[in-house]
Amino acid sequence: MAPSSSTLTSTIAGPSSTAGAAHAGTIHIEPSDHMSFDFGPPAPTFDDKYEEREYVKQRLALAYRVIAREGMCEGASGHLTSRDPIDRDCFWVNPYGLHFSRMTASDLLMVDHHGKIVMGGKPDRQRYNAAAFVIHSAIHAARPDVDSVVHAHSPYGKAFSTLGRNLPFYTQDSALFWNDIKLYAAHGGVVLSAKESGEIVGSLGKKKALIMQNHGLLTVGGCIESAVAWFMA
Ligand SMILES: [Zn+2]
Repeated sequence: MAPSSSTLTSTIAGPSSTAGAAHAGTIHIEPSDHMSFDFGPPAPTFDDKYEEREYVKQRLALAYRVIAREGMCEGASGHLTSRDPIDRDCFWVNPYGLHFSRMTASDLLMVDHHGKIVMGGKPDRQRYNAAAFVIHSAIHAARPDVDSVVHAHSPYGKAFSTLGRNLPFYTQDSALFWNDIKLYAAHGGVVLSAKESGEIVGSLGKKKALIMQNHGLLTVGGCIESAVAWFMA
């Protein structure tokens, strides 16, 4: 059960207005159901939207490589997506069968909300994982605050997902997900139906992370950096 603001009151030692002395002060923390889930310096801004598109693609390709470097990808499974800054109802995704560690910006495909490849990619890699569209298009459509979604079958995350339980808050690090992660227990195999994507979206709600039982993990962010950071946390 989430604590009320009053139960999150903590006492600290802080500097006194009198030089050289110290006194106990009190910080009142007001928790919110939907605290900002981004952090760090703000993303660069662009006057030229086409430059921004290239930046988004390069950061997304880099994110695939980071996930691969950390041993968090599995075969052809998993997909990371970023919303296109020009066509906001389209997103960029990996081509099917290319290992995360080999991803480049020019490999990425831009897919519209019907699942059609609009542009991008190599001539011999004009296909993508159908589950990527079913899951990610639904989230991008339902969450305008989300520009990036990370889903992978990371070994530890997938193993934990088989327990069928939400994240226990035993450490300070897990507090990052306090009231912001959900267990999705109704996994029905490879996600190919609109019914299941709707249930995934409903389960995620306004949260930033989902434990997909017997499947893997999913995180979202206002940019690919935050979505990857939450995934690796
Ligand atoms: Zn999956």
